[in-house]
Amino acid sequence: MEKHTVLHFKKNCISCGACAAISPNYFEMDPEGLAELKGSATVDDHQELEIDTEDAKAQCQEAADVCPVNIIQVKKK
Ligand code: SF4
Repeated sequence: MEKHTVLHFKKNCISCGACAAISPNYFEMDPEGLAELKGSATVDDHQELEIDTEDAKAQCQEAADVCPVNIIQVKKK
């Protein structure tokens, strides 16, 4: 599979918990109640994680789809 990048604009998280509930392998709630993209690096104003499997892409896309403020994106590299 082509590499994809998951982007998460954590500063805009409204702490609903939906991403962590549907995609716990990739998202968890931090002690402040904001979603954290597991294993990600902070790049500029957001978090990024490279993924390269269909399974990872599907799980991260599910999180993106349930986020009510659309701050999770899955993009082709
Ligand atoms: S679904 Fe969106 S708003 Fe809700 S916790 Fe996850 S990143 Fe934050």
